[in-house]
Amino acid sequence: AKAQGGAGHQMFTVEMREHAVRRIHLEQDLRRAAVQDELRVLYQPIMALATGQTVGFEALVRWQHPVHGLLYPADFIDLAEETGLILEVDRWVLREACKQLQRWEKLLPGAPSFNLSVNFSGRHFSAPDVYASLSGVLNETSFAPHALKLEITEGVLLQHSHTIGETLGRIRELGVQLSIDDFGTGYSSLGYLQSYPVDTLKIDRSFIDRMLQSEESGELVRTIITMAKNLKLRVVAEGIEEPAQLEQLRTLNCDYVQGYLISPPLEPAAVPDYLRRDFPL
Ligand code: C2E
Ligand code: CA
Ligand code: CA
Ligand code: CA
Repeated sequence: AKAQGGAGHQMFTVEMREHAVRRIHLEQDLRRAAVQDELRVLYQPIMALATGQTVGFEALVRWQHPVHGLLYPADFIDLAEETGLILEVDRWVLREACKQLQRWEKLLPGAPSFNLSVNFSGRHFSAPDVYASLSGVLNETSFAPHALKLEITEGVLLQHSHTIGETLGRIRELGVQLSIDDFGTGYSSLGYLQSYPVDTLKIDRSFIDRMLQSEESGELVRTIITMAKNLKLRVVAEGIEEPAQLEQLRTLNCDYVQGYLISPPLEPAAVPDYLRRDFPL
């Protein structure tokens, strides 16, 4: 070892190496996971506030790791983003969820129809073939494009501004809807919302959390809903945990709600029972 680096420098390198080695293992694991059925999808119901009807589900990925146990997106999505594996993970989730929703639509009494919300990383929009891979999965599964909502974050609207409009436009022409996730936490302006083919705003959970305690958050939620109505956009409030939040959102005429109060994300096997129960509103 070089003397001039000193002990501190050496330790730093060793730690960096260990970190890098752990990362490489997890990355290799993730490559394998997508192939070996270790990924799973949970489904969180989205409810129409006016009718209490379940109108759709948000697909949320989990990774059942053979050694580390059940991993949440917070444990591996960053890694998947950095390595580009997220493209494969998202496509896998999309394909799986498209098939699952159609199974429910066929098997459940009354042949209900549901919307599917899928989280789509911003990475797709700098990848060459987001349109082709999306229409590929839709064709392969024969899922109705108009029943699909892609949840993207505000940041996507700001990246590659010269091509993003065109890409989103082509996706919208397929019939697929676009939803802005975590709305209120980013930098999008009214202008952005008007210049892109957005259908839905999803108010970030942090504002719902505080809407009854903080006047500012309450005012922000009210403003977002009013603005969305004026722009003819649908609004979803996520992270509803308390009846009082639901009541306030009803007063504000919010379109859709999602959160533990209504239902946590469900294993697919639990969904038919959930749909049979009456939600006490
Ligand atoms: P998100 O899209 O904002 O999803 C909502 C998160 O809040 C989910 O966490 C959900 O389980 C949780 N949640 C739902 N209702 C409540 C509630 O009432 N209270 C609280 N405290 N939490 C609630 P999850 O499943 O851990 O996902 C975290 C994030 O990981 C998601 O945030 C999304 O950004 C990302 N993610 C999840 N699945 C995928 C995926 O398939 N692809 C991509 N690219 N990202 C994903
Ligand atoms: Ca989401
Ligand atoms: Ca969100
Ligand atoms: Ca998020």
